[in-house]
Amino acid sequence: DEDSALLSDQQFDDDDLPFVPAPPVLAIVGRPNVGKSTLVNRIIRSKQAVVEDVPGVTRDRVSYDAEWNGKDFSIVDTGGWEQDARGIHRQVADQAEVAVDEADAVIFVVDGLVGATAVDEAVVRMLRRKKKPVFLAANKVDSEAQMAEVYALWNLGLGEPYPVSALHGTGTGDLLDAAVKALPDTAQHGGLVPRGGPRRVALVGRPNVGKSSLLNKLAGSERVVVDDVAGTTRDPVDELVELGGETWRFVDTAGIRRRQHMAQGSEYYAMLRTQRALDKAEVAVVLLAVDEPISEQDVRIVQLAVDSGRALVIAYNKWDLLDDERRYYLEREIQRDLGHVSWAPRVNVSAQTGWHKDRLAPALETSLTNWGQRIPTGRLNAFLGELVAAHPHPVRGGKQPRILFGTQPSSRPPKFVLFTTGFLDPGYRRFIMRRLRETFDFTGTPIEISMRVRE
Ligand code: GDP
Ligand code: GDP
Repeated sequence: DEDSALLSDQQFDDDDLPFVPAPPVLAIVGRPNVGKSTLVNRIIRSKQAVVEDVPGVTRDRVSYDAEWNGKDFSIVDTGGWEQDARGIHRQVADQAEVAVDEADAVIFVVDGLVGATAVDEAVVRMLRRKKKPVFLAANKVDSEAQMAEVYALWNLGLGEPYPVSALHGTGTGDLLDAAVKALPDTAQHGGLVPRGGPRRVALVGRPNVGKSSLLNKLAGSERVVVDDVAGTTRDPVDELVELGGETWRFVDTAGIRRRQHMAQGSEYYAMLRTQRALDKAEVAVVLLAVDEPISEQDVRIVQLAVDSGRALVIAYNKWDLLDDERRYYLEREIQRDLGHVSWAPRVNVSAQTGWHKDRLAPALETSLTNWGQRIPTGRLNAFLGELVAAHPHPVRGGKQPRILFGTQPSSRPPKFVLFTTGFLDPGYRRFIMRRLRETFDFTGTPIEISMRVRE
């Protein structure tokens, strides 16, 4: 039957995915002023990267497209820590660590004239634990006469040091040949880049909430169907819909339109279908109907959408059926059952009359914008510093965990890493999460925070 056809068809084509695998990532790490930006400029052969002559100027992690020997990759330049007498050593290592976790290979730059410092050695210890290919660049070796320090760098235990002059370009070819050879074809650590073209929306919700009606209302007579493979069991069909002056791609609309089937299918298959649509989308519209109490299945679908890491809009349909009494209970149900997703934009609509249908596009825009947001490391740490000063973590068993440093290594959805001196209480974590949302606009996007405890 159709459900088993759906199941056996779980391996959908790559073409269906809203993302393409990101190119592999080469991280450039090292102390400030060793010449990382100059080296990055050399590699990307342009002046995209800014070289700062002022020591301690806050620069954030930046990523650039690069190509060497016919291979595309991205380069992540790890500035970002602030010159801070208390914690500079630690922060250099922390920032580098996050970049290294996301990278496929690493170029570790040291100042070839100065040799290895204590900070360099701390970075080396971290690099060893990560077990990624590491290439040691001894920079500022502008002439043969300066080679003596370079040989001493064998002591770092990272293999052969590559003497380079990022300024003059000498030695950088050999270094890149080796580093780029060590890169896989695509990024190994969750890197996804939007494919481009119309942004992809999954319209999901339990049977009978009005998905099909809403889609009809939105698409009107201008229906454009893509990927319609007639006469096969491969039933996902996407439709292009104009909303708010923009074209959106509603994914897997065949399942939405086949009303009877949806109503009859078991919840298990409905959830499977929902999951598949979410996988293919950048943003989810979860549709609920206000004429009936919010059900467990509604809440489960909202949770699937949140867990998928996609941007989210919650739409309440059949608003034309709402009377005052039902409205009172509805608001209470929303607070009780969906209070944890109060960050999602809420749109009240009537698919039947078309009331408020033009509110959907702005909500989608908001969620997608915030989903892709990245907070610069400097701003994030200014925020954390103020927050921790005003509301320190409660003392637990004579100890008080501190937050040393934070960074946001990725977005879609935004992910934060906090370096701490101990485990943070769940309540305190929720507090940070709430303050993050209040301070920066994360309306419409889930956010994740992970902790790294430093002994
Ligand atoms: P970053 O903080 O590690 O990104 O370092 P920068 O790229 O900003 O460089 C710091 C300083 O070192 C700048 O004044 C650069 O011009 C200088 N520099 C970078 N590479 C070389 C090099 O190969 N030789 C010399 N002599 N100076 C360099
Ligand atoms: P789906 O299963 O989620 O695709 O839901 P349908 O679009 O098939 O709608 C289920 C039923 O709800 C149909 O009888 C629709 O006419 C009705 N319906 C959908 N939207 C509205 C609405 O906004 N107001 C009212 N009164 N009925 C609606």
